[in-house]
Amino acid sequence: MERSPHYDESIARIKQEHREGAPLAESREKISHLRQEMILDNAQCARLLTEFIDDNPAATVEQFKEYAQGTNLIIHPEITANFIANLSIDRNRTKRAITTLNKSKQAGEALFRWLVPDWDNTSNQDPITIEAYPLSVVAYLSDSDFHKVDTRTNVGGFYNDRLEYERKKFPWGKEEDSCPVIIVDRDTARPTTTEHEKGHAENKNFQKAVEHRAVWVRMKPQLKNLRIETGGDYQELLKNLMANALSNAKNELLADLKAQPNLWNKMQDLLQRGGVYDYFQHNYQLAPEIYDEMWENYSQILNRSFQAIDAIMGIYQHLGLEERGQLFRWVLAQFPIDEWPEELEKSGFSPEARALEKVGEDRYVLAKLADQEVKNGVWRPRFIDKKIEGSMFVASVLENPEEATQTWKNVDIADAAVDKLKGQLQANQIKPLWVFLDQYNQEIAGLIPTDEDGPQTPEE
Ligand SMILES: [Zn+2]
Repeated sequence: MERSPHYDESIARIKQEHREGAPLAESREKISHLRQEMILDNAQCARLLTEFIDDNPAATVEQFKEYAQGTNLIIHPEITANFIANLSIDRNRTKRAITTLNKSKQAGEALFRWLVPDWDNTSNQDPITIEAYPLSVVAYLSDSDFHKVDTRTNVGGFYNDRLEYERKKFPWGKEEDSCPVIIVDRDTARPTTTEHEKGHAENKNFQKAVEHRAVWVRMKPQLKNLRIETGGDYQELLKNLMANALSNAKNELLADLKAQPNLWNKMQDLLQRGGVYDYFQHNYQLAPEIYDEMWENYSQILNRSFQAIDAIMGIYQHLGLEERGQLFRWVLAQFPIDEWPEELEKSGFSPEARALEKVGEDRYVLAKLADQEVKNGVWRPRFIDKKIEGSMFVASVLENPEEATQTWKNVDIADAAVDKLKGQLQANQIKPLWVFLDQYNQEIAGLIPTDEDGPQTPEE
C-alpha cells in the first residue's frame, strides 16, 4: 500500500508559499489545519474499511486493499495494511465458525455448547438466534441462558475475541479453532448493546494495527491475573497496570461511541469502584493504599479526558453534526486516552469546537440586545403574540425607528448566517470546518458590538 500523494503535495505547497514570503503565523496555521485534516482522513479511512467489510463480507484482501487505496485517504500505509489484514483474519475466523456451526442441525444449540460445554438441553428448543456479522458470531440468548454463560450482574452482553471451540465434545472443531463472539442477553440488554459490542470488535482490530505506536496498548499477557506484591519491578508493574486500565477504559468509551453519542452513563459505570469495570480490583490483589492511589490517579485522568471530549461531542450534537460525531471515535482512537485533552487542543478539534460554540453565542448576544430594547420600552420581540407584536412594532418603530429596525435587521442577518453555516457544516462535517467558520465570521462581522465600539474614554 502507498501513502496518498496529496498530503505531501500540500505540505510542499505550504513550505513553498512560506519561502515566497507568506508570514510564519499563516504557514503554521495552514500546517495545523492540514494536520487536523489528516487525522480526520485517517478516521474516515478506518470507518470506511469497517463499512466495506460489512458490505462485502466475501471480498479478498487484495480487493480490500484496492478499495482502501482508491479512497485516497492513506496516510500510514502500514497501519492501513495491518488493519485490513486483522479485519480479514477475524472475518475468516467468523466464517469458519459459522460453517462449523451450520454442520449441526441446531446451530444455536451447538454454539451454546461451545459456551457452556456441560449444558444439557432439556427444553428441546434451539436456545440461540444467530445474526450475520462479518467480524464475529453474534448470538442472542434468553436471560436465564445468558446467565449460564456470564455470571456477572448488570451485564447485557459481551465481546470475546477468542471463544475456543469445545473440540473434545464436538469432533468437527479443529485444535486451533477459536472465533470472536458477541453474546447478547435478548431479554434485558439495552437497544444499544449489540452496537456497543460491535464497537469492541472493530476496536480490537484497530488496536492491533496501532499497538506498536503506543497509542492504545493491549493487555500484556504476563500481567493477567498476576499477584502484585512489593519488590523489584513493582513500580514498573503498577505503570503497566495503569496503562492497561486506561486502554481498557478507552476501549469502553469508543465502543459506546459506536452505539450512541452520550458517554455519561458509560462514565458512571467506569468510575464505579468495585464495579464491572474496576480493572484494579478484579485481577489483582493490591495493598489498599496502593489501590486507593491508583484509583485516584485513574479517575482523575478519566474525568479530565471525558470533559475534553464531552465539550466537543456536545457541540456536534447541538449543531446536528452526527457524521462528525461518528467519526470522532476514530479520531480518539489515534491518541492515548491520557493525552486526549492536549492532543485535541493541538490538532484543532477543541479550538474548532469553541469556535462552533461561539456561533450559538453570537445569536444569543444579538437576541439579548433585542431584549434589552424591550426592557427599555423600545422594542418587542416577535415571538410574543402576533397581535400585540404588531401594535408594539408600530409603536416602537415610531418611537425609535432606526434603532429598532437595525437591531432586528442584525438579528435577521445573524439568523441567516447561522442557518447558512449550519447547512455548510452539515454538508462538510468530515473535513476541518475552519473555512466555513471564517466565512461566517466575515458575514456577521460588525453586527455584534465589540469592546472598541464601547464608550470612548475622554482622552480620546
Ligand atoms: Zn464494553
